[in-house]
Amino acid sequence: MANSKEFLNSVNQMFDKSAKLISLPEDLATKIKLANSTYTVNFGVKLRNKLHTFKGFRCVHSEHNEPVKGGIRYSLDASQNEVEALAALMSYKCSLMDLPFGGAKGALIIDPNAWKRDELEKITRRFTYELAKRDLIHPSQNVPAPDMGTDENVMAWIADEYRRLNPTEIDSLACVTGKPISKGGVHGRTEATGRGVYYAINEFLSYPKDCKRIGLSPHIEDQQIIIQGFGNVGYYAAKFLSEDGAKIITIIEKDGSVVNEKGINIESLKKYFDKKRTFNGYDGFTTTRSRFLSKKCDILIPAAIENVINKNNANNIKSKLIVEAGNGPVTAEADDILQKRGIVVIPDFYANAGGVIVSYFEWVKNLSKMRYGLMQEREEEKRQSNLVSALELMTDKNFPNELKGKVIKGSTELDLVRSGLEEKMREGYSNIHEKFHSNKKIKDLRTAGMVIAIRKIADAYSYLGI
Ligand code: NAD
Repeated sequence: MANSKEFLNSVNQMFDKSAKLISLPEDLATKIKLANSTYTVNFGVKLRNKLHTFKGFRCVHSEHNEPVKGGIRYSLDASQNEVEALAALMSYKCSLMDLPFGGAKGALIIDPNAWKRDELEKITRRFTYELAKRDLIHPSQNVPAPDMGTDENVMAWIADEYRRLNPTEIDSLACVTGKPISKGGVHGRTEATGRGVYYAINEFLSYPKDCKRIGLSPHIEDQQIIIQGFGNVGYYAAKFLSEDGAKIITIIEKDGSVVNEKGINIESLKKYFDKKRTFNGYDGFTTTRSRFLSKKCDILIPAAIENVINKNNANNIKSKLIVEAGNGPVTAEADDILQKRGIVVIPDFYANAGGVIVSYFEWVKNLSKMRYGLMQEREEEKRQSNLVSALELMTDKNFPNELKGKVIKGSTELDLVRSGLEEKMREGYSNIHEKFHSNKKIKDLRTAGMVIAIRKIADAYSYLGI
């Protein structure tokens, strides 16, 4: 079980280190660091002829921007400390990435696999009711999203329950993001966090000097990668990285790992895992798990739970780059050890920001009531088609057929979402990179990102007169 106190302490220690660097007054630092409020609810649901009591949380970390934004996690390990650590990371993430949100997080102590779909729906609807009646779900105040143990189905139930409770609210669909397309979602949300991880790695590789410093090739096809967690984030990160030529040599799951030094076939493993809910029986299966975190590789991507790289194993890590696709996988103590050993960490509040970036697009889509690309798609096609015709006329040659379709095609919602996501991930990394290289006191990417994030939150508070 993850140590949630250690997780919260780690996030706060990383904050303190950065706040000191920018000489943030202590009183303001304390205001920013501590969660504004955490609501705990115990509610009962009658299931299987028995009344079951569930405990849930919704933490609002910072309301310098509203709505506040942050996923809802379903996990037996959920706790107040964990939810407060995750909410703080959301504040820093939204600030770093220039998203118009404060930070929040929610959780329910439950094993989602222990309940049937209709039971989980009943529990989710009741939890939604408890949160909505306190405005802890609200399109302009508090907007949840999926996290570990929840998915687009759960988000659809939340949206539907909120609409039922607020039938005259015109913006009700914007009360939650990560919904299925048919229930007001946006194309590209499900893949967004993993795709963002892929962009984050590409951004790092685009600076050859930084790669050289840690002995990493700047080419994606040279990378040997280990991933921990094959859920939403881990799977999509593996998919996009392997499609671009990287070799995923080990994937670690809860009950064992799959190893293939030539590169795992991601789609085939996904099909197997979806069906069996375990890697057991798949080619290359072994019961070894966390020991693989210290196996030699170029890039290590922890995409499961917090505190998995800690003072006990940080000295054994043999990757050159760690990309925190999950939240809080590296503790503050491990972070210091890794930095001394020259292992670079791309921090969670940048690396996994893809999810909230595309949630932002979904929220805006719900408020505007119009899908992305509706007004431009055909117009773009006409212009491009005219351009192709003009080129053919001027050169007296036919435009290559294999390219014609691609050039003429207008941008779909998915094209635009992916483009917006890539732009945001590029912008975020470029800001971190610039800060890291412009201040000698900043020794790692996490501190660089945190300094940017805290500065912006502090400025927002000072404009509010706090
Ligand atoms: P998920 O529930 O879809 O998948 C998590 C996977 O990790 C599961 O397959 C689970 O079996 C596995 N796992 C759990 N404990 C493990 C362990 N000790 N070792 C190996 N595997 C283990 O969750 P997710 O949405 O992919 O989230 C993963 C991480 O990414 C979490 O830290 C979450 O907060 C973070 N995150 C998720 C999103 C999102 O959009 N879903 C966005 C930002 C950050």
